[in-house]
Amino acid sequence: MAASEDRVRSDIVEVGRRLYARGYVASNDGNISVRLDDARILTTPKSVSKGFMSPDMMCVVDLEGRKLAGERDPSSELLMHLEVYRQRPDVRAVVHAHPPLATGFAVAGIPLDRAVLAEVITTLGSVPIAEYGTPSTRELPEAVRRYIKAHDGLLLANHGALTVAHELYAAYYKMETIEHFAKISLVARLLGGERLLSAEEVARLQALRGSYGIAAPAPICIDGDQPAGVDASCQVVRAPDAPGLRLVPETRRASREDRPGDEAEIRLTYRELTALIEEAVRSLR
Ligand SMILES: [Zn+2]
Repeated sequence: MAASEDRVRSDIVEVGRRLYARGYVASNDGNISVRLDDARILTTPKSVSKGFMSPDMMCVVDLEGRKLAGERDPSSELLMHLEVYRQRPDVRAVVHAHPPLATGFAVAGIPLDRAVLAEVITTLGSVPIAEYGTPSTRELPEAVRRYIKAHDGLLLANHGALTVAHELYAAYYKMETIEHFAKISLVARLLGGERLLSAEEVARLQALRGSYGIAAPAPICIDGDQPAGVDASCQVVRAPDAPGLRLVPETRRASREDRPGDEAEIRLTYRELTALIEEAVRSLR
């Protein structure tokens, strides 16, 4: 039985409070929506802190974003939510926030796509970055559209993160998982880099999805970049081929970054560079 609208309103208030309490949003950032039925979406109002909402503040809109009920107006970021509902009939809730660590990865242009945590692999697969779009224009929904058919969680370039699920709390927990994953990834990189799960181990985790009935909108695929301009059809994970091994030190992909020859990049520390220059100067004398 579908939850009553009153219940959904108070659930949105509670999720907004949690987003704010955890620092996933500042000021009036972020928005939440829930599908009430085939024709109506309940969503948070604009210009309100998501930490201090009340159930009566919500707006009811149709799938085109036209307001059906409510005193306040919905956020201009609603367009992105509506695009998700159009592309994913299975999705009943969308959460958008700006959690600082995940958004840091989105700003740095680094997707959360390395095979690192079994929990993340089985639930989200990978968290790609949807291309930057000017807020409140059609650019952002377009960028989201390319990835949302295959993913339940996205980073939005230079903006934030978006999660979706069959119900509101599941979408909210995916936001927690993304921010937690970003935090762990950052710490691991500060400590010298992740050790990655091998492709073989990722295949084993993918099989677990089936046996535990974990819903995912698309299968995991290893490495191989999505061709440009094509909608994502699988969850691209970076996991090295290492037969018989479960954990492998992170190495940059040979095909793209370690191309041998004149174009290869060499990194030196300041000390090494200074030593080379000093040696060259000495040999000139
Ligand atoms: Zn935003």
